[in-house]
Amino acid sequence: MVITSKTRSRKEGTRFFKCPRPVPAVNNRIICPRCGNDRYFHEIAEDVTITTQYIQNADGSFTPQSDESNIMGDIKLFCSKCQTDLTEFHTQFVEMLF
Ligand SMILES: [Zn+2]
Repeated sequence: MVITSKTRSRKEGTRFFKCPRPVPAVNNRIICPRCGNDRYFHEIAEDVTITTQYIQNADGSFTPQSDESNIMGDIKLFCSKCQTDLTEFHTQFVEMLF
């Protein structure tokens, strides 16, 4: 029998549905202790100075060239569902930020 790309993909498709790859167990997810949310979070930085460099164009308009932010205050992590302060998990949050 000649194996064409069509027969090969059909075989792989069958194998995929019969033996789905197991999802690896992850034990290091941040879970809100108050509401159980493990998906939606937000971070708030206090006392931030943002410096933006602009160039003025010939027609008088401005184009931003670069910006730089300096955070002078605290950075806090919150649950976006119930607003609980989860700053104790912020280090873990930063380590898992990709
Ligand atoms: Zn919550």
